[in-house]
Amino acid sequence: MPTSLQKTLHIFGNALASNRPYHVQWFLTQRCNYRCKGCNVWQVKTQRKELGTEDVKKGLDILKELGTLEIVFSGGNPLLRDDIGEIIEYSSRYFITTIYDNGSMALEKIDALRKADFVAISLDSLDERKNDHVKGVPGAWRRAMEAIKQLHNEGIHVGVSPTISQFNIDEIIDFTKYFIKLDVPVWYCLYWYDQPRKKQLFKIGKKVNEFEIVDGEKFVKVCDSLLELKRKHEGVFITEKTLEVLKKLFLYEKRAWKCQALQSFFMIDPLGKVAGCHLQEPVASIFELPEAWNSVKLQEHRREYEKCTRCAYLCYIFYSLYSDAKSNMEILFDQWKNIKLLAHNFLNSRSKRSINEMGKSKCKFGVE
Ligand code: SF4
Ligand code: SF4
Repeated sequence: MPTSLQKTLHIFGNALASNRPYHVQWFLTQRCNYRCKGCNVWQVKTQRKELGTEDVKKGLDILKELGTLEIVFSGGNPLLRDDIGEIIEYSSRYFITTIYDNGSMALEKIDALRKADFVAISLDSLDERKNDHVKGVPGAWRRAMEAIKQLHNEGIHVGVSPTISQFNIDEIIDFTKYFIKLDVPVWYCLYWYDQPRKKQLFKIGKKVNEFEIVDGEKFVKVCDSLLELKRKHEGVFITEKTLEVLKKLFLYEKRAWKCQALQSFFMIDPLGKVAGCHLQEPVASIFELPEAWNSVKLQEHRREYEKCTRCAYLCYIFYSLYSDAKSNMEILFDQWKNIKLLAHNFLNSRSKRSINEMGKSKCKFGVE
Protein backbone atom coordinates (compact mmCIF):
# COMPACT_ATOMS: atom_id res chain seq x y z
CA MET A 1 0.00 0.00 0.00
CA PRO A 2 1.61 3.31 -1.02
CA THR A 3 2.10 5.98 1.62
CA SER A 4 0.83 9.56 1.36
CA LEU A 5 4.36 10.57 0.44
CA GLN A 6 4.46 8.08 -2.44
CA LYS A 7 1.09 9.35 -3.64
CA THR A 8 2.29 12.96 -3.48
CA LEU A 9 5.46 12.09 -5.40
CA HIS A 10 3.41 10.19 -8.00
CA ILE A 11 1.11 13.20 -8.48
CA PHE A 12 3.94 15.74 -8.70
CA GLY A 13 5.94 13.52 -11.05
CA ASN A 14 3.03 13.27 -13.47
CA ALA A 15 2.02 16.92 -13.09
CA LEU A 16 5.47 17.88 -14.39
CA ALA A 17 5.39 15.42 -17.30
CA SER A 18 3.80 16.10 -20.69
CA ASN A 19 1.31 14.21 -22.88
CA ARG A 20 -0.65 12.82 -19.93
CA PRO A 21 -4.41 12.51 -19.44
CA TYR A 22 -4.21 14.47 -16.19
CA HIS A 23 -7.97 14.57 -15.56
CA VAL A 24 -10.36 11.64 -15.93
CA GLN A 25 -14.05 11.52 -15.16
CA TRP A 26 -15.51 8.09 -14.70
CA PHE A 27 -19.29 7.70 -14.92
CA LEU A 28 -19.37 4.59 -12.76
CA THR A 29 -23.09 4.02 -13.12
CA GLN A 30 -26.04 5.39 -14.96
CA ARG A 31 -28.37 4.64 -12.07
CA CYS A 32 -29.67 7.61 -10.15
CA ASN A 33 -32.16 8.09 -7.36
CA TYR A 34 -32.88 11.77 -8.23
CA ARG A 35 -34.92 13.36 -10.99
CA CYS A 36 -33.06 16.60 -11.72
CA LYS A 37 -34.83 18.76 -14.27
CA GLY A 38 -31.67 19.68 -16.20
CA CYS A 39 -30.37 16.12 -16.47
CA ASN A 40 -30.91 13.39 -19.02
CA VAL A 41 -29.32 10.58 -17.05
CA TRP A 42 -32.47 9.40 -15.29
CA GLN A 43 -34.60 9.88 -18.40
CA VAL A 44 -32.77 7.63 -20.81
CA LYS A 45 -33.38 3.91 -20.62
CA THR A 46 -31.17 2.75 -17.79
CA GLN A 47 -28.07 0.88 -18.80
CA ARG A 48 -27.83 -1.56 -15.92
CA LYS A 49 -24.60 -3.21 -17.02
CA GLU A 50 -21.52 -1.85 -15.32
CA LEU A 51 -17.92 -2.95 -15.03
CA GLY A 52 -17.32 -5.13 -11.97
CA THR A 53 -14.99 -4.15 -9.15
CA GLU A 54 -11.95 -5.99 -10.46
CA ASP A 55 -12.31 -4.48 -13.93
CA VAL A 56 -12.62 -0.99 -12.46
CA LYS A 57 -9.40 -1.65 -10.54
CA LYS A 58 -7.70 -2.87 -13.72
CA GLY A 59 -8.83 0.34 -15.39
CA LEU A 60 -7.37 2.36 -12.54
CA ASP A 61 -4.06 0.52 -12.92
CA ILE A 62 -4.05 1.55 -16.59
CA LEU A 63 -4.75 5.18 -15.69
CA LYS A 64 -1.83 5.07 -13.28
CA GLU A 65 0.44 3.92 -16.10
CA LEU A 66 -0.90 6.65 -18.39
CA GLY A 67 -0.01 9.29 -15.79
CA THR A 68 -3.45 10.45 -14.66
CA LEU A 69 -3.44 12.85 -11.70
CA GLU A 70 -7.06 13.18 -10.69
CA ILE A 71 -10.16 11.06 -11.03
CA VAL A 72 -13.70 12.26 -10.56
CA PHE A 73 -16.28 9.55 -9.98
CA SER A 74 -19.77 10.54 -10.99
CA GLY A 75 -22.76 9.06 -12.77
CA GLY A 76 -25.69 8.66 -12.10
CA ASN A 77 -24.98 8.47 -8.42
CA PRO A 78 -21.77 6.48 -7.95
CA LEU A 79 -22.64 5.90 -4.29
CA LEU A 80 -25.40 3.54 -5.43
CA ARG A 81 -22.68 1.00 -6.23
CA ASP A 82 -22.17 -1.56 -3.45
CA ASP A 83 -18.43 -1.65 -4.11
CA ILE A 84 -17.90 2.12 -4.01
CA GLY A 85 -15.81 1.98 -0.81
CA GLU A 86 -13.40 -0.48 -2.39
CA ILE A 87 -13.16 1.62 -5.58
CA ILE A 88 -12.50 4.86 -3.68
CA GLU A 89 -9.90 3.19 -1.50
CA TYR A 90 -8.08 1.76 -4.53
CA SER A 91 -8.27 4.97 -6.52
CA SER A 92 -7.12 7.21 -3.70
CA ARG A 93 -3.87 5.27 -3.39
CA TYR A 94 -2.47 7.12 -6.40
CA PHE A 95 -4.95 9.71 -7.66
CA ILE A 96 -6.56 12.82 -6.28
CA THR A 97 -9.96 11.21 -5.97
CA THR A 98 -13.20 13.15 -5.96
CA ILE A 99 -16.66 11.64 -5.74
CA TYR A 100 -20.00 13.27 -6.41
CA ASP A 101 -23.20 12.70 -4.49
CA ASN A 102 -26.53 14.49 -4.78
CA GLY A 103 -26.63 14.54 -0.98
CA SER A 104 -28.85 11.51 -0.62
CA MET A 105 -26.31 8.75 0.00
CA ALA A 106 -23.30 10.35 1.67
CA LEU A 107 -24.38 9.65 5.24
CA GLU A 108 -25.27 6.05 4.49
CA LYS A 109 -21.88 5.56 2.79
CA ILE A 110 -19.86 7.81 5.09
CA ASP A 111 -17.25 5.14 5.84
CA ALA A 112 -16.64 4.63 2.12
CA LEU A 113 -16.05 8.37 1.74
CA ARG A 114 -13.33 8.66 4.36
CA LYS A 115 -10.64 7.69 1.87
CA ALA A 116 -11.74 10.14 -0.82
CA ASP A 117 -9.71 13.31 -1.25
CA PHE A 118 -12.85 15.33 -1.94
CA VAL A 119 -16.56 14.67 -1.68
CA ALA A 120 -18.69 17.03 -3.75
CA ILE A 121 -22.31 17.39 -2.68
CA SER A 122 -24.45 19.01 -5.31
CA LEU A 123 -26.77 21.70 -4.02
CA ASP A 124 -28.23 24.49 -6.14
CA SER A 125 -29.83 26.92 -3.74
CA LEU A 126 -30.02 28.01 -0.12
CA ASP A 127 -33.77 28.04 -0.60
CA GLU A 128 -35.11 24.59 0.21
CA ARG A 129 -38.10 24.92 -2.13
CA LYS A 130 -35.98 26.09 -5.09
CA ASN A 131 -33.38 23.38 -4.63
CA ASP A 132 -35.99 20.61 -4.41
CA HIS A 133 -37.63 21.97 -7.56
CA VAL A 134 -34.32 21.59 -9.46
CA LYS A 135 -33.64 18.13 -8.01
CA GLY A 136 -37.18 16.92 -8.61
CA VAL A 137 -37.25 15.22 -5.20
CA PRO A 138 -38.78 16.59 -1.98
CA GLY A 139 -36.36 16.61 0.96
CA ALA A 140 -33.25 16.86 -1.27
CA TRP A 141 -32.12 20.16 0.27
CA ARG A 142 -32.42 18.93 3.84
CA ARG A 143 -30.57 15.69 3.13
CA ALA A 144 -27.76 17.54 1.34
CA MET A 145 -27.37 20.09 4.14
CA GLU A 146 -27.26 17.34 6.76
CA ALA A 147 -24.69 15.43 4.72
CA ILE A 148 -22.47 18.50 4.29
CA LYS A 149 -22.63 19.28 8.00
CA GLN A 150 -21.89 15.73 9.14
CA LEU A 151 -19.06 15.10 6.66
CA HIS A 152 -17.47 18.43 7.51
CA ASN A 153 -17.66 17.70 11.23
CA GLU A 154 -16.07 14.30 10.68
CA GLY A 155 -13.09 15.83 8.89
CA ILE A 156 -14.01 14.48 5.46
CA HIS A 157 -13.06 16.98 2.75
CA VAL A 158 -16.54 17.88 1.68
CA GLY A 159 -17.35 20.69 -0.70
CA VAL A 160 -20.57 21.98 -2.11
CA SER A 161 -21.13 22.10 -5.83
CA PRO A 162 -23.92 24.29 -7.25
CA THR A 163 -24.71 24.28 -10.94
CA ILE A 164 -24.88 27.93 -11.99
CA SER A 165 -27.93 28.58 -14.15
CA GLN A 166 -30.33 31.41 -14.90
CA PHE A 167 -32.48 29.95 -12.13
CA ASN A 168 -29.98 30.61 -9.31
CA ILE A 169 -27.62 33.19 -10.81
CA ASP A 170 -28.88 35.91 -8.45
CA GLU A 171 -27.94 33.97 -5.36
CA ILE A 172 -24.59 32.44 -6.32
CA ILE A 173 -22.56 35.03 -4.43
CA ASP A 174 -24.64 34.78 -1.22
CA PHE A 175 -24.56 31.00 -1.57
CA THR A 176 -20.77 31.08 -1.82
CA LYS A 177 -20.39 33.47 1.13
CA TYR A 178 -22.64 31.27 3.25
CA PHE A 179 -20.52 28.17 2.74
CA ILE A 180 -17.07 29.73 2.86
CA LYS A 181 -18.03 31.23 6.22
CA LEU A 182 -18.56 27.65 7.39
CA ASP A 183 -15.15 26.59 5.97
CA VAL A 184 -16.89 24.46 3.34
CA PRO A 185 -15.29 25.05 -0.07
CA VAL A 186 -17.42 25.71 -3.11
CA TRP A 187 -16.79 24.60 -6.66
CA TYR A 188 -19.16 25.14 -9.52
CA CYS A 189 -20.74 23.46 -12.48
CA LEU A 190 -22.20 25.53 -15.27
CA TYR A 191 -25.54 24.65 -16.76
CA TRP A 192 -25.16 23.59 -20.37
CA TYR A 193 -27.33 21.22 -22.33
CA ASP A 194 -26.22 18.54 -24.73
CA GLN A 195 -27.06 18.96 -28.37
CA PRO A 196 -27.80 15.26 -28.61
CA ARG A 197 -25.78 13.05 -30.92
CA LYS A 198 -26.50 9.52 -31.90
CA LYS A 199 -23.25 8.09 -30.71
CA GLN A 200 -22.38 10.31 -27.75
CA LEU A 201 -20.77 8.49 -24.82
CA PHE A 202 -23.21 9.53 -22.10
CA LYS A 203 -26.28 11.78 -22.06
CA ILE A 204 -26.28 14.39 -19.30
CA GLY A 205 -27.46 17.95 -20.03
CA LYS A 206 -31.13 18.37 -20.89
CA LYS A 207 -32.48 21.58 -22.39
CA VAL A 208 -34.55 23.48 -19.86
CA ASN A 209 -35.48 27.07 -20.67
CA GLU A 210 -35.54 28.31 -17.07
CA PHE A 211 -31.93 27.15 -16.54
CA GLU A 212 -30.33 28.45 -19.73
CA ILE A 213 -28.16 31.49 -18.96
CA VAL A 214 -29.57 34.32 -21.04
CA ASP A 215 -28.26 37.23 -18.99
CA GLY A 216 -24.58 37.30 -19.98
CA GLU A 217 -23.89 40.61 -18.23
CA LYS A 218 -25.21 39.28 -14.97
CA PHE A 219 -23.05 36.21 -15.32
CA VAL A 220 -19.98 38.41 -15.89
CA LYS A 221 -20.81 40.33 -12.71
CA VAL A 222 -20.98 37.04 -10.84
CA CYS A 223 -17.50 36.17 -12.19
CA ASP A 224 -16.17 39.56 -11.03
CA SER A 225 -17.64 39.09 -7.57
CA LEU A 226 -16.15 35.59 -7.35
CA LEU A 227 -12.76 36.99 -8.34
CA GLU A 228 -13.05 39.52 -5.54
CA LEU A 229 -14.16 36.87 -3.04
CA LYS A 230 -11.28 34.62 -4.08
CA ARG A 231 -8.75 37.35 -3.42
CA LYS A 232 -10.07 37.93 0.10
CA HIS A 233 -11.18 34.49 1.27
CA GLU A 234 -10.37 30.81 1.23
CA GLY A 235 -12.88 28.31 -0.11
CA VAL A 236 -13.60 29.48 -3.67
CA PHE A 237 -12.15 26.63 -5.73
CA ILE A 238 -12.66 27.97 -9.23
CA THR A 239 -9.39 29.44 -10.55
CA GLU A 240 -8.89 33.06 -11.63
CA LYS A 241 -7.87 31.92 -15.08
CA THR A 242 -11.12 29.96 -15.50
CA LEU A 243 -13.19 32.95 -14.37
CA GLU A 244 -11.40 35.27 -16.82
CA VAL A 245 -12.04 32.84 -19.67
CA LEU A 246 -15.72 32.58 -18.73
CA LYS A 247 -16.01 36.37 -18.73
CA LYS A 248 -14.65 36.51 -22.29
CA LEU A 249 -17.12 33.82 -23.35
CA PHE A 250 -20.15 35.63 -21.97
CA LEU A 251 -19.00 39.17 -22.86
CA TYR A 252 -17.63 38.64 -26.38
CA GLU A 253 -18.59 35.04 -27.22
CA LYS A 254 -14.86 34.47 -27.46
CA ARG A 255 -13.59 30.99 -26.65
CA ALA A 256 -10.23 31.79 -25.10
CA TRP A 257 -9.29 28.14 -24.71
CA LYS A 258 -8.60 25.29 -27.06
CA CYS A 259 -10.41 22.08 -26.16
CA GLN A 260 -7.98 19.42 -24.96
CA ALA A 261 -10.40 16.48 -24.99
CA LEU A 262 -8.54 13.18 -25.36
CA GLN A 263 -5.32 15.00 -24.51
CA SER A 264 -5.35 16.36 -20.97
CA PHE A 265 -8.70 14.73 -20.15
CA PHE A 266 -11.19 12.07 -21.14
CA MET A 267 -14.33 10.36 -19.89
CA ILE A 268 -15.11 6.73 -19.15
CA ASP A 269 -18.64 5.29 -19.16
CA PRO A 270 -20.04 2.54 -16.87
CA LEU A 271 -18.91 -0.15 -19.33
CA GLY A 272 -15.37 1.17 -19.59
CA LYS A 273 -15.76 2.91 -22.95
CA VAL A 274 -13.52 5.96 -23.37
CA ALA A 275 -14.35 9.20 -25.19
CA GLY A 276 -12.76 12.66 -25.23
CA CYS A 277 -15.87 14.05 -23.52
CA HIS A 278 -19.36 12.72 -22.87
CA LEU A 279 -20.64 14.36 -26.09
CA GLN A 280 -18.20 12.55 -28.35
CA GLU A 281 -18.35 8.96 -29.46
CA PRO A 282 -16.27 6.26 -27.78
CA VAL A 283 -12.84 5.70 -29.33
CA ALA A 284 -11.57 2.73 -27.34
CA SER A 285 -12.20 0.78 -24.18
CA ILE A 286 -10.10 1.59 -21.13
CA PHE A 287 -8.37 -1.78 -21.58
CA GLU A 288 -7.29 -0.91 -25.13
CA LEU A 289 -6.10 2.54 -24.20
CA PRO A 290 -2.40 1.86 -23.53
CA GLU A 291 -2.03 0.74 -27.17
CA ALA A 292 -4.46 3.25 -28.61
CA TRP A 293 -3.19 6.36 -26.79
CA ASN A 294 -0.51 7.25 -29.35
CA SER A 295 -2.35 5.91 -32.40
CA VAL A 296 -3.02 7.88 -35.59
CA LYS A 297 -6.77 7.50 -35.02
CA LEU A 298 -6.64 9.25 -31.65
CA GLN A 299 -4.34 11.97 -33.03
CA GLU A 300 -6.98 12.70 -35.68
CA HIS A 301 -9.70 12.94 -33.03
CA ARG A 302 -7.53 15.31 -30.99
CA ARG A 303 -7.10 17.67 -33.93
CA GLU A 304 -10.86 17.58 -34.52
CA TYR A 305 -11.70 18.28 -30.86
CA GLU A 306 -9.27 21.22 -30.68
CA LYS A 307 -11.51 22.95 -33.22
CA CYS A 308 -14.78 21.87 -31.61
CA THR A 309 -17.06 24.58 -30.16
CA ARG A 310 -19.95 22.37 -29.27
CA CYS A 311 -20.03 22.93 -25.52
CA ALA A 312 -18.81 25.08 -22.66
CA TYR A 313 -19.09 22.68 -19.76
CA LEU A 314 -17.10 24.22 -16.95
CA CYS A 315 -15.10 21.11 -16.08
CA TYR A 316 -13.98 20.71 -19.71
CA ILE A 317 -12.87 24.34 -19.85
CA PHE A 318 -10.91 23.87 -16.64
CA TYR A 319 -9.27 20.66 -17.87
CA SER A 320 -8.38 22.36 -21.14
CA LEU A 321 -6.79 25.34 -19.39
CA TYR A 322 -4.69 23.11 -17.17
CA SER A 323 -3.17 20.78 -19.68
CA ASP A 324 0.60 20.96 -19.26
CA ALA A 325 3.29 21.09 -16.59
CA LYS A 326 3.39 24.89 -16.41
CA SER A 327 -0.36 25.29 -15.99
CA ASN A 328 -0.46 22.45 -13.42
CA MET A 329 1.95 24.47 -11.30
CA GLU A 330 -0.27 27.53 -11.73
CA ILE A 331 -3.09 25.62 -10.01
CA LEU A 332 -0.91 25.30 -6.94
CA PHE A 333 -0.37 29.04 -6.75
CA ASP A 334 -4.03 29.80 -7.46
CA GLN A 335 -5.21 27.34 -4.84
CA TRP A 336 -2.65 28.14 -2.17
CA LYS A 337 -5.22 29.62 0.24
CA ASN A 338 -7.45 26.59 -0.27
CA ILE A 339 -4.65 24.16 0.48
CA LYS A 340 -4.26 25.96 3.79
CA LEU A 341 -8.04 25.69 4.35
CA LEU A 342 -8.02 21.94 3.72
CA ALA A 343 -5.12 21.44 6.11
CA HIS A 344 -6.92 23.56 8.71
CA ASN A 345 -10.16 21.56 8.31
CA PHE A 346 -8.27 18.31 8.61
CA LEU A 347 -6.46 19.36 11.77
CA ASN A 348 -9.65 20.67 13.34
CA SER A 349 -11.79 17.68 12.48
CA ARG A 350 -10.95 15.69 15.57
CA SER A 351 -11.67 18.45 18.01
CA LYS A 352 -14.90 19.35 16.19
CA ARG A 353 -15.97 15.72 16.30
CA SER A 354 -15.40 15.44 20.01
CA ILE A 355 -17.31 18.67 20.66
CA ASN A 356 -20.22 17.36 18.59
CA GLU A 357 -20.16 14.05 20.35
CA MET A 358 -20.56 15.92 23.63
CA GLY A 359 -23.59 17.61 22.09
CA LYS A 360 -22.24 21.06 22.85
CA SER A 361 -21.74 22.43 19.38
CA LYS A 362 -24.04 25.10 18.05
CA CYS A 363 -25.16 24.06 14.58
CA LYS A 364 -24.08 26.75 12.10
CA PHE A 365 -25.83 25.05 9.19
CA GLY A 366 -29.39 25.64 10.28
CA VAL A 367 -30.26 21.95 10.24
CA GLU A 368 -30.45 20.09 13.53
S1 SF4 B 1 -27.88 15.63 -12.10
FE1 SF4 B 1 -26.90 13.97 -10.99
S2 SF4 B 1 -28.25 13.65 -9.22
FE2 SF4 B 1 -29.44 14.77 -10.71
S3 SF4 B 1 -30.55 13.17 -11.88
FE3 SF4 B 1 -28.65 13.67 -12.98
S4 SF4 B 1 -27.16 12.17 -12.29
FE4 SF4 B 1 -28.85 12.18 -10.82
S1 SF4 C 1 -15.75 21.42 -27.09
FE1 SF4 C 1 -14.48 19.70 -26.39
S2 SF4 C 1 -15.55 19.00 -24.57
FE2 SF4 C 1 -17.05 20.21 -25.74
S3 SF4 C 1 -18.11 18.79 -27.10
FE3 SF4 C 1 -16.35 19.58 -28.24
S4 SF4 C 1 -14.74 18.06 -27.87
FE4 SF4 C 1 -16.28 17.77 -26.30
